[in-house]
Amino acid sequence: MERTLSIIKPDGVSRGLIGEVIRRFEKNGIRIAAMKMIRLTRKQAQGFYAVHRERPFFDSLTQFMSSGPVVVMVLEGENVIEKNRTLMGATDPAKAAAGTIRRDFATEIEKNVVHGSDSPETAAFEIGYFFNRFEIVA
Ligand code: ATP
Ligand code: MG
Repeated sequence: MERTLSIIKPDGVSRGLIGEVIRRFEKNGIRIAAMKMIRLTRKQAQGFYAVHRERPFFDSLTQFMSSGPVVVMVLEGENVIEKNRTLMGATDPAKAAAGTIRRDFATEIEKNVVHGSDSPETAAFEIGYFFNRFEIVA
């Protein structure tokens, strides 16, 4: 059993897509092991995306991620890191496959509705960034 971190980004929350995203996870056999709605400070967004701090889009991205509430979730299932990435689609919605969350709902490469961990190492870091062990329901 694998775990990954999912975030419904501020654009997804403000556009009323929480239910639709969760529906897709559940429909595809993914279990939600933890969930909460929070609003990130700029500093918390910068810490979360620290791997991207040298990228030209870092300031804009962290501004966007702290611009409104997000829903953070721990997803659980077999091969769930890859499964979630497949359901999300490519970073750029214009390049995302048909039927993916980003292709169906995202408006641009930055405001792309969802985040998902991309490896077991990042999943461990990202889950620990938002949840302690008592908040994750086995
Ligand atoms: P995420 O990490 O959010 O799941 P990802 O792994 O598909 O997305 P990354 O390369 O890790 O993509 O980029 C992190 C986030 O930074 C993207 O989801 C997007 O919001 C933003 N981003 C990535 N590339 C660009 C870009 N060229 N211009 C603007 N924003 C970008
Ligand atoms: Mg990423």
